[in-house]
Amino acid sequence: MAKVRLDRVRKTFGDVVVLPGIDLTIENEEFVVLVGPSGCGKSTLLRMIAGLDDMTSGTISIGDRIVNDVDARDRDIAMVFQSYALYPHKTVFENMSFALKLQGVEKAVLRRKVDEAASILGLTNLLDRYPRQLSGGQRQRVAMGRAIVRDPQVFLFDEPLSNLDAKLRVAMRTEIRSLHQRLRATSIYVTHDQVEAMTMADRIVVMNAGRIEQVGTPMELYDRPANVFVANFIGSPA
Ligand code: ADP
Ligand code: MG
Repeated sequence: MAKVRLDRVRKTFGDVVVLPGIDLTIENEEFVVLVGPSGCGKSTLLRMIAGLDDMTSGTISIGDRIVNDVDARDRDIAMVFQSYALYPHKTVFENMSFALKLQGVEKAVLRRKVDEAASILGLTNLLDRYPRQLSGGQRQRVAMGRAIVRDPQVFLFDEPLSNLDAKLRVAMRTEIRSLHQRLRATSIYVTHDQVEAMTMADRIVVMNAGRIEQVGTPMELYDRPANVFVANFIGSPA
């Protein structure tokens, strides 16, 4: 079953056409990685799926609902950014509960959801700390916790590991994948790192200058790249 559907999704800024028209279907519980060079339109596409930016034209569906006119907070989607996007003057607990509090969620429910997420992410003993008192990996987990407490149907990740050192990045890839599995989530993960794409994705979407060059499993892209751009980007021998 399709979980996220993009039909001719187009984005222009003034005269500049950033995305001429994207068609893409993401299945339920799939982990899809959008990969492509800096500036090719990955973040723009993700922000439109999240409802943070308006499309110029096209249709976005989540589940069986067209969400073009649905507010970001009502889309059942949570977005995870780089780890520095935490509130520095709020504790881990406050960072994780902030969105729920804004929604007017009852205190006891909020406490339970944060405790659950903290337990999944190994943050239970850190709930009273401030972001500056955490390691890079712990901060990234808090950023994920903020998303998890909202029970979203779809997780969107925009280069969430780009601030972390190489070793931690490798460990967090595995963590994010197993979290996705455990929550039976549908995830769209943006990166410009082809290794990240090859190791994490069920399917990879290779983007270039606002267009999709190819969609396929890591093996398909490696074995049968559609063109020289994909071959070079994925690093296959074609
Ligand atoms: P990526 O995430 O793949 O690096 P982006 O989606 O951030 O790429 O950007 C795609 C293109 O859209 C870039 O050329 C960028 O300069 C342009 N762009 C993004 N946001 C704006 C904006 N608010 N106004 C004008 N141009 C923008
Ligand atoms: Mg980006």
